[in-house]
Amino acid sequence: MGERENVYDVLVVGSANADLTVRVDRRPGAGETVLGTDLVESAGGKGANQAAAAARLGARTALLARVGDDAFGELLLKGQRAAGADVRHVRVEKGARTGTALIVVGPDGDNTIVVSPGANARLSPADVTGAREVVAASAVVSLQLEVPPETVRAAVEVARETGTRVVLNPSPTPAELEPELLAAADPLVVNEHEARQLSGLAGGGPEEWARALRERGARSVVVTLGGDGALVLDAGPGAGRTAAPGVEPGAGPAGDEVVRVPGVRVRAVDTTGAGDAFTGALATRLARGASLAGAARYAVRVGAASVTRPGAQPSYPAEGELPDGEG
Ligand code: ADP
Repeated sequence: MGERENVYDVLVVGSANADLTVRVDRRPGAGETVLGTDLVESAGGKGANQAAAAARLGARTALLARVGDDAFGELLLKGQRAAGADVRHVRVEKGARTGTALIVVGPDGDNTIVVSPGANARLSPADVTGAREVVAASAVVSLQLEVPPETVRAAVEVARETGTRVVLNPSPTPAELEPELLAAADPLVVNEHEARQLSGLAGGGPEEWARALRERGARSVVVTLGGDGALVLDAGPGAGRTAAPGVEPGAGPAGDEVVRVPGVRVRAVDTTGAGDAFTGALATRLARGASLAGAARYAVRVGAASVTRPGAQPSYPAEGELPDGEG
C-alpha cells in the first residue's frame, strides 16, 4: 500500500442504539419482577460507541449508520457530535425506530442486554458501496455485527478493494463466523467468551483460542480479558501486510508472536461499552501506524478508564483522562 492522504483515521460502519439502563441489586429470574433505579437514557450501540471512543481520543472519525427520525435518533446524533465524530454518513430514516438496547446492570457492574435493531436492520450494502470513496479515504474501517450480515460483507469487500485495514469485533457472536469476514479481520477483536466460541475449542485458554482463530484465517487476533487486559496474536516480523490480493499475508501461524498486555487496576462501576471503547481506541492507534501490541496497550488503558464511569459513550475518556501506563 503506497502513501495516501486519508480524510478519516477511523470509519465505523455499524450500529447506533439508544441505551436504556436500569441498575438492580439482584437480577430477576424468569417470570420474576424486581425494582431498579431510575431509567437512564444514553447514546450507545457498538458502531456509535466505537466511533465516539475514537473521536473522543482525537481521531478523525466518521460513523456510517442509520437511525430513525425519533428522539433516540437525535440522542445518537448529539452523542456523535459531542464526541467530535462526523455524522454526515448517518442516515436519518423517516418513520423508522432508532435501535434500542435494554440494559440491566447488576451489583457487580456486569450487564445483561436485549437489543431491538430498529433502523440498524436497514443499513444496506448499497449504503456501503455508495460510500466507497469514504472507505478509500479512511485508514481503518471498524466493523461489528449489529447490522445485517450482507452489509458487513459489503464493507469487507469495499475495504479489500480500496486497501483499507479492517478491524472486526464479531459481536453479537454468530455460531460460526463467515470465512470472508475472518480473513479480512486485522485484527479480529474478541472478548474471552467470543474467542472461545469462535475458536471451536472446548477447552484451552486465550492463547489457544487466538491461535485457533489465526489458523482459521484471521490475520491477527486481540482477545480482551476484562480487568486482566488483553492478549495479542500478530504475525511475526517480516510478515508485511502489503501482499498482493490473493497472496497469504503474514509468515503463517507458525511465526506468530504473542504479547500479553496487563490490565490496569481500577474500580469498575459499569462495564457497558468497555469492549467498544477498547476497539475504538485500538483503531485510533492502528490508523496512526502503531504496532498491534502498542495499539492494544493504549486500548487497555482506554477500556479501563471507561469502566470507572457509568454508561457507554458518556464513560469514554479523552486523551488527558487516561490512567498511567505505556502505549
Ligand atoms: P467486553 O466489554 O467486550 O466484554 P472486556 O470485558 O474484555 O470486553 O473488556 C474490554 C476492555 O475493557 C479490557 O481489555 C480492559 O481494557 C477494559 N476493562 C474491562 N473490565 C475492566 C476492569 N474490571 N478493570 C479494568 N479494565 C477493564
